[in-house]
Amino acid sequence: MSTSQKEYKDTPIVMVKAQDYQPQTIDRAVERLWKELCIDPSLFCGKKVLVKPNLLMRRRPEEATTTHPQVVRAVVEQIKRAHPAQIVIADSPGGLYNPTQLRAIYTTCGMQQAADQTGAVLNFDTGSGAVAVQQGKLCSEFNLIDPVRQADVIVSVGKLKTHCMTGLSGGVKNLFGCIPGLQKPQLHYRFQNKNDFAGMLVDLCQTVAPVLTVMDAVESMEGNGPSGGTMRKTNCLIASQSPFCLDRFLCALIAMTPQQVPTVQSCIERGLCPQNDADLLIINPDALPCQIADFQHPRSTTIDFSGNVPRFLQPAVRFGAKHLLAPKPRIDLDKCIGCGKCAESCPPHTIQIQNHKAHINYKQCIRCYCCHEMCPVRAIHIRGRK
Ligand code: SF4
Ligand code: SF4
Repeated sequence: MSTSQKEYKDTPIVMVKAQDYQPQTIDRAVERLWKELCIDPSLFCGKKVLVKPNLLMRRRPEEATTTHPQVVRAVVEQIKRAHPAQIVIADSPGGLYNPTQLRAIYTTCGMQQAADQTGAVLNFDTGSGAVAVQQGKLCSEFNLIDPVRQADVIVSVGKLKTHCMTGLSGGVKNLFGCIPGLQKPQLHYRFQNKNDFAGMLVDLCQTVAPVLTVMDAVESMEGNGPSGGTMRKTNCLIASQSPFCLDRFLCALIAMTPQQVPTVQSCIERGLCPQNDADLLIINPDALPCQIADFQHPRSTTIDFSGNVPRFLQPAVRFGAKHLLAPKPRIDLDKCIGCGKCAESCPPHTIQIQNHKAHINYKQCIRCYCCHEMCPVRAIHIRGRK
């Protein structure tokens, strides 16, 4: 057995009930996560701790797009008990990464209030710098935001959501927010094949190496996540010291196969989590269901047939699938307000704003769905062939 295989067999995933976002409910659930995982205070004592929520865009907590501020507040309070030197809350959301945008997002997502209540520092430093990748398969270096580079330890606090490109927005995908602003679309452009993109995300996760990942799954997002889906009550918080095992668990929880979640598939191939979810060490003291069979999946992940053809034909099928089978992002012109956020985030710059409406040149579209992810008014839909 390799070291990594041994590690995942010894790394528990804890799931505890949390039926609402009342402060006392979340405080108790977070306290139980710490206790069940036997988190040692020395992990945080005297350290500079970064808490990294999912702040994809400027949405209110009840829209289930961003990590709920009560979960972030409770995690910060729990870390404070270990007497850290400092706690910083930071993320690089989609779109522009500047203090004005950050302030607007922190306020709407409730992070300003979470920081005010706990004394944690909200990050407004938009600097970044190169960090070498030690165990990467596809990347040798990442440009990471300064609070990530300056932290002694990182706690990732994500939101359970589906994702049109990667199937699942879990612990691994949450760390894409460590890449500054509009450098994220550049990585989409560099890694256009979704398996390569997933491999890049796993390289990134191994580099950022959070000591703990907590998943807000009280109210999750199903359907066309990470921003165009619908809220689904799932009533729990989940945590693990392995973001890879956590994602393997989440994949099973929302009734997806590893083949539908390329980040999980990549983790399996690297020996970072087991192929079979039955091999995970799950602590489930409230006997919660470990699979939500009718959880709605994103439409875009349901039509990749390339796994069903001989291996030597798969590259050709994938190439064809990208242009013929992969669903197109389509603009609802009645809803579009011409804000340009889709064009700003489009890696090949294939969206034009004309007469205050967005228009896509499909010949250059790489089907990354960044536009769908960033549209503030849900005016971009992922539809099948037409
Ligand atoms: S139009 Fe949308 S899906 Fe196509 S490349 Fe641009 S951002 Fe990606
Ligand atoms: S499609 Fe959405 S993001 Fe693009 S311009 Fe219209 S409203 Fe803005």
